[in-house]
Amino acid sequence: MNHMQDNGQRASRPTGIAILGSTGSIGVQTLDVIATHPERFRVVALAARRSAELLAAQAARFRPELVCLCEGEMEGAVSGAEGTVAAATHPEVDLVVVATTGAAGWEPTLAAIAAGKQIALANKEALVMAGSVIAVEARRAGAVLRPIDSEHSAIWQCIQGEGVAESHLSGPRGVRRLILTASGGPFRDASREELERVTPEQALAHPTWKMGPKVTVDSATLMNKGLELIEAHWLFDVPYEKLDVVVQPQSIVHSMVEFEDGSVKAQLGVPDMRVPIQYALAYPDHLPYSDLPDMDWSRAFALEFRPPDHERFPCLRLAMEAAMLGGTYTAALSSADEEVVAAFLSGEIGFMDIPRLVDWALERHAPVQEPTLEDIREVDRATRAAVRERIGASARYAAVRHTER
Ligand code: MG
Repeated sequence: MNHMQDNGQRASRPTGIAILGSTGSIGVQTLDVIATHPERFRVVALAARRSAELLAAQAARFRPELVCLCEGEMEGAVSGAEGTVAAATHPEVDLVVVATTGAAGWEPTLAAIAAGKQIALANKEALVMAGSVIAVEARRAGAVLRPIDSEHSAIWQCIQGEGVAESHLSGPRGVRRLILTASGGPFRDASREELERVTPEQALAHPTWKMGPKVTVDSATLMNKGLELIEAHWLFDVPYEKLDVVVQPQSIVHSMVEFEDGSVKAQLGVPDMRVPIQYALAYPDHLPYSDLPDMDWSRAFALEFRPPDHERFPCLRLAMEAAMLGGTYTAALSSADEEVVAAFLSGEIGFMDIPRLVDWALERHAPVQEPTLEDIREVDRATRAAVRERIGASARYAAVRHTER
């Protein structure tokens, strides 16, 4: 489809959108963007896991053709995983926003790719765990995976006009390095001893970004940046040797592309997820959005860059090791991380137990090279079970130690 036709079609009919995970942080912000541009976007389908009350309120406001509540019953809604696939493949849907967490998004994403839909991907775990299936399938089908993650949106914007605009999946040309920026999280200046004592409340107070709890804890451990390296590898078809991380505490520079001649392009802006969400929806247009704060260039401010500290933040190194090992190592990494972060948030383990337990899970992992989705699901199940058991055993040990004292 050429650009003229694209514009013509847009003028006559708003883009039909399905949101998988509409009640989560990204889902809610996606609906904010859609509500701002009713002439451009229309909600066709909404799917959520179990927040029935919020889903019902969203359905009443946006009046979609199809509503799906995966776990539970709701009047007028389809139940179960088949409902999510139906939402993703609805004939009036042009673009599917995948904002679910965990493995719940894989099947509908693949179904949407097969049905020729555009995909806007917010679920980085999907590519971390099953990138070898999902990204490869998208490439084969000629589907562009539009990134919603701010770093990947930044890279995507930087490579526009570099001869890679339509299909960034074939790998950008002339690129020496993709440099992902990290805020460094709330503990970037904390000592090792202070990190051992971090509470869930402290970890959930992110200095610059407003996000869901899992990704906020991942940002505090730098695991998030490790997962994003793997996400970038699959999204842009760039080898790990060409991916780098730099800490940018102000979260103003969202990521950078360094070209072969040493020229570096960066994308900057106030940190707000609605910007990358809107770009993924409106691509290739930058739409006005009056609710969003602007950069204030009238006052003096400095931008700081520093290398990540792998000693205090071992999760980034663990993710890079899993990425280099390949196969199902990244799936084991992601599954282990989800379990240990949940255990940290419920007060079962300490902050620095997160890298210790992920390291333990990777050590014991028996990898499958070139896995199928079934292999990946089995790794997910087995890794979570092993980590849960390990956490339970250490909790019992800690309790015994406590009573003996
Ligand atoms: Mg991000």
